[in-house]
Amino acid sequence: MENKTICSVCEEHIEEHEYHYNNLKTGEPVCEGCVDNSYNYPMLTSTTYLEGEVERVMYNNTLGAFVDEYFEMSEESPHNSPVESAQWVSSNAWRGYMGFDLKPSWVTLESGWATGRHDDVKWKHAFNDFIDELEEGNLYTHFPIVVVSAPTSNVFSTAIDVCVRERDVDAFWEAVGEHCGLTAEALKTSLS
Ligand SMILES: [Zn+2]
Repeated sequence: MENKTICSVCEEHIEEHEYHYNNLKTGEPVCEGCVDNSYNYPMLTSTTYLEGEVERVMYNNTLGAFVDEYFEMSEESPHNSPVESAQWVSSNAWRGYMGFDLKPSWVTLESGWATGRHDDVKWKHAFNDFIDELEEGNLYTHFPIVVVSAPTSNVFSTAIDVCVRERDVDAFWEAVGEHCGLTAEALKTSLS
């Protein structure tokens, strides 16, 4: 009997004995090579900071799956992640970024671009400081603060969204203002 399974990414035949994976969203087959390959590219990452804990999940577009730190895959986005789904958005043939859709009841407080901590981009340090405080657990909140970072076609730049639930917006500005004096304007400037 002829095997008609074709990889939805590279369009190669997948033999019957070969391992393959089905994209969780579309159900389309993905061959082993393309599964391996999908992990070689930077993925959209949602990092949730809540009560001193850090929960990180990546979205693998090739597999239609949220992947946690233990490489467990799930079609469902974690409860405390604002990311509903993600997809590559091209601005033209050469440029683009990984965009995402927000779940209802979540808002983006600010979005922009981050780079590493370089002396020539001092205005960006407010954002780096904010992340350091979250990562180190010094900025502790009883509601989730989420940083969504996404690859762009510019390897030096990462697209950033800072998200909270709609009901936590006031609490967020109060907490960061008290903790590190971060204002809405400083966050905006540091991501521009
Ligand atoms: Zn393939």
